[in-house]
Amino acid sequence: MTNARTTKTDPAAVDPRLGEVPPELAALDGEDEVGGLPTLEEVGRRLPIGYRDATGKLHRDFELIEWDWDVEEELGELAERNQDMPMGVYVSEVVGRGLRTLGELDFTKLKRSQRRLVVSQLYHADVIYVYVWLRIVALGRHLKFEEFDCETCGFAHENFAGDLKSLEVKVHEGEGSPTAEVEVEREFRYGKQEVRRVTVGPLKWSFMETSDVTVLTNPAKFRLATLRSAVVAVEGLENGAPVVLTREHAKGMGPASVNRLVAAIDEIGGGAVMECGGRCARCGAKFRRAIDWTYDNFFGRSSR
Ligand SMILES: [Zn+2]
Repeated sequence: MTNARTTKTDPAAVDPRLGEVPPELAALDGEDEVGGLPTLEEVGRRLPIGYRDATGKLHRDFELIEWDWDVEEELGELAERNQDMPMGVYVSEVVGRGLRTLGELDFTKLKRSQRRLVVSQLYHADVIYVYVWLRIVALGRHLKFEEFDCETCGFAHENFAGDLKSLEVKVHEGEGSPTAEVEVEREFRYGKQEVRRVTVGPLKWSFMETSDVTVLTNPAKFRLATLRSAVVAVEGLENGAPVVLTREHAKGMGPASVNRLVAAIDEIGGGAVMECGGRCARCGAKFRRAIDWTYDNFFGRSSR
């Protein structure tokens, strides 16, 4: 989701539970597309999009707690007690525990359930962004990758470590949340309205918490669930009522329209591009590797 390039090719490929993004996707030359973006280190502890609280105030700057052995042990116990906890929920726990402040919100004064609620309302891009910073605080900036072969010369890279602080970050400037209006291919009925234009916003983290494996492994379901959670408005519906798009609406507008909307959602999602780049140690060819940010890999012993 944070990686517009690979998600446009196959939205399902970004979910960690589906395994690593295939190298032929990860290695697509993205340098021209993402070049010139600020790095994670340059953006610092500031959410790429931001959180609007109940009063409408935007919060972007955040601080983290001091990550120590006790916190790690506490999170480890939580994982042990809840073996079937979906990764999205676990990341919410980690981020909720790791945040000290978000704007004026003091996370240390919130109950666990309240922290979880705030995190689930954050944008996907913002949650992942905080999560990467937590990883840096916990284990340092370098992330070791699984062995892979150079696509040009076949050289086996056994010890490639990417620098998380060098990740490129798409930041949304401005007060309002980013939105995109998309014209669908086929008019569809929403209630009594004939709709030709749909407005979408970035994906919220709640999508990751509520999507089960059947959604994440089925590209069609994945696209529909993405659309459902990121649609902001449909043309002609002026009363501000929340928009709920169903399978029938998706059928009405046609699959190409759904794909176009999902691409728009990815495009405005922003956040850290979860890929590390490097050059082959033997032939010098450039490569990019997608980051596996599942907790075990990202925080586990294997990533040290
Ligand atoms: Zn090579």
